Amino acid sequence: TPRIGVLALQGDFREHLHVMSSLGAEAVTVRREQELASVDGLIIPGGESSVMDKLSRSFGLAGPLKAAIAAGLPVYGTCAGLIMLADRILDGMADQQTLGGLDVAVRRNAFGSQRDSFEEDIAFPALDGDPVHAVFIRAPVVEEVGPAATPLGAVSDGRVVAVEQGNLLGTSFHPEMTNDWRFHQLFLDRVRARLA
Ligand code: GLN
Repeated sequence: TPRIGVLALQGDFREHLHVMSSLGAEAVTVRREQELASVDGLIIPGGESSVMDKLSRSFGLAGPLKAAIAAGLPVYGTCAGLIMLADRILDGMADQQTLGGLDVAVRRNAFGSQRDSFEEDIAFPALDGDPVHAVFIRAPVVEEVGPAATPLGAVSDGRVVAVEQGNLLGTSFHPEMTNDWRFHQLFLDRVRARLA
């Protein structure tokens, strides 16, 4: 059974723990370096990326997280988690840093304050079946996709909201808030393939 960690410094980590255990993984919280070392894959949840950044640095986790990403640990980031995985933030808070790994530039809160949240059905070629009912909450968009990263899908105006690169997967939206867990399943399949 794959052991999936959910970074639990801040944000909606409980929902991801529920999804991963429902899909048959062993789901554990990660707040310390030793916990990170014990997992086969990691989810970085939604929340507030600037707070997650500060906490990860003050908990001494930012360095170990960057090392784990570089070593090939599968990581899936949703919303703030996608921001944490982006190499570049176009409108970060002063001093805001990311872990990086995805060759992309993200813009935070990109859908504007008047549309704090919205939902859209999006077809993803990487997933079989129906479009995904994507829920966006003060969500980032991927404004630039560098050559090392691959866009997986976009909202109807063309703005990219899901990307992958090697061991990393990121979505602007929150599948853990719906009953459609195909992105989590895709991630878990990749973790399993790496363990096999
Ligand atoms: N706007 C948040 C940020 O900048 C992300 C929102 C979310 O994760 N739902 O981190």
